[in-house]
Amino acid sequence: MTDTSIFTRILNGEIPAEIIGETDRLFALRDIAPQAPVHLLVVPKSAEYRDVTELAAGDPALLAEMIAFAGTLAKEHTEDGDFRLVFNTGANAGQTVFHVHAHVLAGGLTEKSVG
Ligand code: ADP
Repeated sequence: MTDTSIFTRILNGEIPAEIIGETDRLFALRDIAPQAPVHLLVVPKSAEYRDVTELAAGDPALLAEMIAFAGTLAKEHTEDGDFRLVFNTGANAGQTVFHVHAHVLAGGLTEKSVG
């Protein structure tokens, strides 16, 4: 990649962010512009994959780790553990950061779409 993604810069401590947890290959932070009462991001530490379709093809085990970590975080950050997982995929679908990440949304969700 020619440009370093914002998530890599956060991981390197170059941009301040509220990192709330990590595993060997993932980290999680609070979204700076929350679209729900709980809005977390689960991000691979490596910027190798641009979006979830590339990740699913290249490292499906890491995708499974993202989903499991989202579930763990939702249990920690909500009373009921319920959550919505969103992967914006492609610019026309609202993806702005091309370093794959999952939006974990929870708390008071009633609409089918967010954002
Ligand atoms: P969108 O910006 O349309 O949601 P993405 O799916 O690419 O597109 O999501 C990028 C997310 O990263 C956004 O929800 C944005 O609020 C979040 N974000 C950007 N910069 C930061 C930051 N410094 N700390 C936390 N979250 C951030």
